[in-house]
Amino acid sequence: MNSYKVLARRYRPQRFEEILEQNHTIYALENAIKENRLGSAYLFYGPRGVGKTTIARILAKRVNCFQPDGVEPCNQCESCKEITSGTSLDVIEIDAASNRRIEDIRDLRENVKFKPIKGNKKVYIIDEVHMLTKESFNALLKTLEEPPEYILFILATTEINKIPETILSRCQIFTFRKVSIQKLQNYLEQIAIKENIKVDKNSLFLIAKKGDGSVRDSLSFFEQVIAYTKGEITYEKIKELMGSYPIDLFLKITQNLFSNLSIEELILPIKEIFDFGSDLEKLIWEYLEFLRICILIKKGIHNKEILGLITEDIEKVKNLTNTIQYEKLLAIFEEFYQLKSKAYLLKIKNSYEARILLEVHLIKIHEKLNKPTLEEIIREINTLTKYFEGIDISEEKLFSQNSQAIPRNKNLIFESETNTNNINQEKNKMQLEDEIQNKFLGTYITDDKQIPKLPE
Ligand SMILES: [Zn+2]
Repeated sequence: MNSYKVLARRYRPQRFEEILEQNHTIYALENAIKENRLGSAYLFYGPRGVGKTTIARILAKRVNCFQPDGVEPCNQCESCKEITSGTSLDVIEIDAASNRRIEDIRDLRENVKFKPIKGNKKVYIIDEVHMLTKESFNALLKTLEEPPEYILFILATTEINKIPETILSRCQIFTFRKVSIQKLQNYLEQIAIKENIKVDKNSLFLIAKKGDGSVRDSLSFFEQVIAYTKGEITYEKIKELMGSYPIDLFLKITQNLFSNLSIEELILPIKEIFDFGSDLEKLIWEYLEFLRICILIKKGIHNKEILGLITEDIEKVKNLTNTIQYEKLLAIFEEFYQLKSKAYLLKIKNSYEARILLEVHLIKIHEKLNKPTLEEIIREINTLTKYFEGIDISEEKLFSQNSQAIPRNKNLIFESETNTNNINQEKNKMQLEDEIQNKFLGTYITDDKQIPKLPE
């Protein structure tokens, strides 16, 4: 992963203006610099890789810069250069994850007594500060309570809830946000141009999405993609690297659930995935994500950022969901969510167990989806009642005409319509009643008087 360091280092922002997204933090810090009222302790809180330590270093440079450029550091003077290269004695970076012992904080308390050597401020950047022990926090608190005027503390954390209230109350707190996919994509595009890397917009979108709001993670993944594809970056190859299932597979599974397929055909995709040795649990999770997209699209949401999908794929899902009822999508989601919980509860470890669960569940959902809803049954009964009364029903749509999930005599109704001259009408009517009874109640009628009264 050498190249990762190279890219991330080469493009690490050296000025506030180069930072993505964190405008409110930068605005507040810049104002404090302009008005010369910087505090003595800051806490930067937010997800990983969004610029907390980068902003801390730029701030450290700016307060110690010999010839600042407005609110920005010059990045040219001796102090700036030393801080950039990590050799400055006035800027001390501590990773609390590996220095959480009280001795380390005692050292810090001793060192705080010494003034900065070259610059105006001695800056302590404590990363992952939530990792400190209780004793270390107490020791740190003593320093925060009476800081010498030349001290600047910048604490950074991803878990603010683990930091004692006493520490929080001594700090100015800034919350950092995840960077949007669109901003990350634009940023990666600029880097690709500078690096002379050919990459299309869909691939950049996917890399940015994988970064999950983190500039560092996006860059890191971009490096992996470059290495994996040997520079020939394509959308498909990135998906392959991510180990993600193609969207076409999910489209097929969903379509199958609504089709008149044999059990064998229905579970075929699962067999293929299993034979390929792929991770079925991951499949269930990704399918849930896919169903979320279907449901959102059905509700009229087409925003790429929210859906996390490229335009071409959004179109594919739109075409699929056009023919599916919203309630049925919700029902599939519900079923798969239960399946996921079940797999978790049963502590399913191997993919063979997952395969069995998945296949049986698919069959169950398939049957459920192809059974008529109560509304459809009532509509059908009403239509057939009309038929018995001799009313023309050729314009009406019958559930039993588009579904074959329920075993039935396929051509019964049509036969009765077209061959009335050849078949005894009365006999045919009884046959139909029998058919309805069998379809909905699962038994054949034996006694005419037991036939329930049909709704009007
Ligand atoms: Zn400078």
